[in-house]
Amino acid sequence: MSSVSKQNQSTTTENTRNASATEKQTTQSHITTDVLIVGAGPAGSAAAIHSAQRGFHTVLVDMANFPRDKTCGDGLTPRAISELAQLGLARTITDAYTSQGLKLHGFGGSVTAPWHDSTYGTIGSAMPRVQFDQLLFDRARSMPEVQPLTGSAAVKVELEGHIRSVELADGTRIFPRFVIVADGVRSTFGKLLGRTWHRGEVYGIAARSYCTTPYADEPWIHSHLELRAPDNSVQPGYGWIFPLGTHNGTANVGCGALSTAKRPAKINTKKLLAHYVSQTSDQWHFGTPQQVTSALLPMGGAVSNVAGANWLLIGDAAACVNPLNGEGIDYGLETARLGVELLGEHKDLTFIWGQTLRDHYGEAFLLARTAARLLTYPQFLPVVGPLALGKPFGSLLMPAAARLMGNLVSEHDKDIVARAWRLSAKTIGKLRGNTPLWS
Ligand SMILES: Cc1cc2nc3c(=O)[nH]c(=O)nc-3n(C[C@H](O)[C@H](O)[C@H](O)COP(=O)(O)OP(=O)(O)OC[C@H]3O[C@@H](n4cnc5c(N)ncnc54)[C@H](O)[C@@H]3O)c2cc1C
Repeated sequence: MSSVSKQNQSTTTENTRNASATEKQTTQSHITTDVLIVGAGPAGSAAAIHSAQRGFHTVLVDMANFPRDKTCGDGLTPRAISELAQLGLARTITDAYTSQGLKLHGFGGSVTAPWHDSTYGTIGSAMPRVQFDQLLFDRARSMPEVQPLTGSAAVKVELEGHIRSVELADGTRIFPRFVIVADGVRSTFGKLLGRTWHRGEVYGIAARSYCTTPYADEPWIHSHLELRAPDNSVQPGYGWIFPLGTHNGTANVGCGALSTAKRPAKINTKKLLAHYVSQTSDQWHFGTPQQVTSALLPMGGAVSNVAGANWLLIGDAAACVNPLNGEGIDYGLETARLGVELLGEHKDLTFIWGQTLRDHYGEAFLLARTAARLLTYPQFLPVVGPLALGKPFGSLLMPAAARLMGNLVSEHDKDIVARAWRLSAKTIGKLRGNTPLWS
């Protein structure tokens, strides 16, 4: 559909056929393309696959060289698996490990909540991001329409009402019809376009590690809602243990806390993680935590300027992370698909993209953000936690909570939990209609 400028034709054809040569390319060049995607994480690579499937010539740029790690819990709900099925990748991932649901622990209670049998199926999984992202990236670059360029960041943009060109750190200039920005939580390229993150809304800070365990094939993912600091105070967040299958022999063990600008969580997530590992080690026989890293999570659509005439933000760049569980991979995959569907269908993407995000996630995200905000009040969890997880309410409430945390209510579900969720979401939407939400 589009082409590379004459003087670089041979280089780029070579690049398309030989991905490893492309990754090393440092020569200055001009490229014209239908779609430029900035960032090749799950959102960017999925967007490249969808874009190629629509027949668009697609340039997929990432500042890192692959394989590359990403701080994450590595958990995949059935909703993510269902999206991966559309990319032809679900089997490869679930063959390595499958989860049946979530076990929630804390405040003297423990509840087992199998994945709800909904639109999305009942199979979850988990895979270290270094493997998962490589899988998606490999799938994208195997498509003849996709031209991968890695090891060089998108650093400059030429705007003429729309994006005319984008320059990479190595001097390559790209002239795209459309740009999809999938550059993650910090969204350095998105900021050049005016992307603004609203820190007054709830956001997460989290740390993860990899621990060897003889129980790496445990088919349940585990969350501890009673997260205690070494001084025994209850923290506004939760810990997780996500087994990664016998092949890896490890579990992803991490913890996260919720914050707002007014009530920042005053914790050192890495120290909290070390304490959490020591508390759960008896049961899981963990080895010493490895590759300990921490990161921020803007959540619940709390960013503005998410689109312009010929560009749009997806995934973490658009704060598409569930405030109740920190899950963002499935939203990255979904927004990739939704974003690509709009390309070429509208003269100007500025309003339609924010509206699309609000239509799909607005009410649920506002409700989840409001619920998560409650957790940032230090008095909330110690009072409500024992009631919610203890007897007699725990076994009634927690399967519903697990379903909401697992992001497994679809618009087609008609049962009581789904109806109650949608009703609360509508009410909160009306009450908090003026808060920033992809505005
Ligand atoms: C501790 C923690 C635990 C989490 N646990 C889970 C979990 O269990 N399950 C879940 O679903 N989600 C989880 N998340 C969220 C999840 O990690 C993100 O939602 C997901 O990575 C978003 O994907 P993305 O493609 O939008 O961004 P990323 O995966 O961050 O990819 C962005 C890419 O853009 C590239 N890039 C950045 N800037 C530029 C530039 N200027 N030019 C070129 N390239 C650029 C980066 O190198 C990177 O490869 C967790 C997050 C954290 C921090």
